[in-house]
Amino acid sequence: MHICIVVYAGLIMHTKICAKCGVEQGLGGFSIDRSRKDMLYPICRCCESKRKKKYHRNNKEKTAKRCKRYRENNKEKTSKRSKEYYENNREKEAKRNKKYYENNKDKVAKRVKEYLKNHPEKNRMRNRKRRAMEKEVSEIYTALDEAYTKDLFSHKCYNCGSKDNPHIDHHCSLSSGNALTRTNAVLLCKPCNSSKGAKLPSQFYSPDKLKKLEAMLYP
Ligand SMILES: [Zn+2]
Ligand SMILES: [Zn+2]
Repeated sequence: MHICIVVYAGLIMHTKICAKCGVEQGLGGFSIDRSRKDMLYPICRCCESKRKKKYHRNNKEKTAKRCKRYRENNKEKTSKRSKEYYENNREKEAKRNKKYYENNKDKVAKRVKEYLKNHPEKNRMRNRKRRAMEKEVSEIYTALDEAYTKDLFSHKCYNCGSKDNPHIDHHCSLSSGNALTRTNAVLLCKPCNSSKGAKLPSQFYSPDKLKKLEAMLYP
């Protein structure tokens, strides 16, 4: 909304003088301020935006802190809003992300590395996905599936019973084109996992062990 004429103190005003830069301007050059007698902000739009920018520059930290606090106190609201925004601006966001990535490759790589170091589970899943993609096997094995497998094997290596950081193993190997699924995932410790390698299950497990294992996988 632009005000073109203001009646102020009985006079019709078409222009107003900015209290900051002193330039006389048309009324459209001022923002509306209903708390004022002439309904206009005392300084012109240019001076106003300059002032806002300056304020922002001088209070960057303060503003950032305030925004952060707001986000923390309104987590659900902000995450819903940003999700909504993302849904509605998918293409734009993808482009922006790509551009950001192109310009900040090193930074992103460092951050991803840091993240994966702190989340070894995610790292393993990522590597698995990558290997599956290399083999052109489409693999959908989620964190939930992983939890299922771990529970199924009581968080122990099925082969030797070690509880030392057991891994998810492709029962029938990925190199022969088998995706990871709940019925193709076995928990093995690292040494057992690497000694199994790409062997067939029957080449690695004793017949008894294999029979018992397959009964667990295909209940
Ligand atoms: Zn001005
Ligand atoms: Zn083992």
